[in-house]
Amino acid sequence: MNDCLFCRIVEGAIPSKAVYQDDRVVAFEDINPQAPVHVLVIPRRHIPSVADFTEADAGLLGWMVQVCVKIARDKGIAESGYRIVTNTGANAGQSVFHVHLHVLGGRRLTWPPG
Ligand code: AMP
Ligand code: ZN
Repeated sequence: MNDCLFCRIVEGAIPSKAVYQDDRVVAFEDINPQAPVHVLVIPRRHIPSVADFTEADAGLLGWMVQVCVKIARDKGIAESGYRIVTNTGANAGQSVFHVHLHVLGGRRLTWPPG
């Protein structure tokens, strides 16, 4: 998956500001932050979107959410609140087709989203 931006970040071929990593997931700062805290959590394995998770991947998705929660605590936004978002497909504005959870916080987030 050489043509996948986030696979290249996992490989270290493209630099990123790492926030957390383990044998299954990598988390790094979003290059174009939309909030004071904006971190992306991705699986090391190339999976295009949440629509491509299988039943066997349920544990991986659950772990990705737990990592988001841990990052929110580490970044000091657990009390003030935060949002975990995954954009899927064109209408949601997905621009990188390697699944990622956005962790957004540090300011008041509006609802509904734009
Ligand atoms: P989405 O639009 O939901 O697919 O989210 C893709 C996210 O990846 C956007 O928030 C981008 O700012 C972010 N992004 C794109 N390229 C990079 C990069 N090289 N390093 C970190 N974040 C990136
Ligand atoms: Zn990929």
